[in-house]
Amino acid sequence: MIKRILIAILALLLTSTNTYSQKIKLIIDAGHGGKDFGAKNNAGDKESDLCLVMAEVLQKYALENGMEVLMTRTKKEQTLTHEQRSGYKADKIYKYYYISLHMDKDKKASTRGNKLYYCSKAVNSGVGMKLAERIGKGLEKLNGNKSVTEDKDAVILKRNTVPSVMVYYGHVTNPQDVKLAKDPAYQREVCMLIIRSIMETRY
Ligand SMILES: [Zn+2]
Repeated sequence: MIKRILIAILALLLTSTNTYSQKIKLIIDAGHGGKDFGAKNNAGDKESDLCLVMAEVLQKYALENGMEVLMTRTKKEQTLTHEQRSGYKADKIYKYYYISLHMDKDKKASTRGNKLYYCSKAVNSGVGMKLAERIGKGLEKLNGNKSVTEDKDAVILKRNTVPSVMVYYGHVTNPQDVKLAKDPAYQREVCMLIIRSIMETRY
């Protein structure tokens, strides 16, 4: 009896170690690009360009923290279809996470706030939701603005079978948010927050 229990405990330990020792592959999607620049402000800042810079910083810190990285877009002029930027499937080699970076827009320049989207229709949506909430809470602390986590029926989120979150870290129409988005220290904070949140949301 004791032997059987010990074997069971050992098996449990081995499987859990195996689960968490699987390398993380982070798929980073810099929103929009090329002909589709997303949101734009009066100063001419484009969501697509700001998000590409953030994506590059996220790639840097993800690699430094032992993750493997896959970028859906690496150039400003690259136009991607929904199909080209999504459709990632789980496998036994990696634990995948998919982060799509965006900035919001509003008619009023004073509007601020963060949005996090996951899709309940997607596989692994529970992990996606937890990750979205975690990043949202962290962003509130970082920029002092409210974070809203929402279930969104977005094509790219539904096409992935890996936990996926769309992160809107502020508004391209708000000067303070744009200033922050261009600040290397802030970029680092946002990216490290995303990396920490992934590490804390294992599955
Ligand atoms: Zn966008």
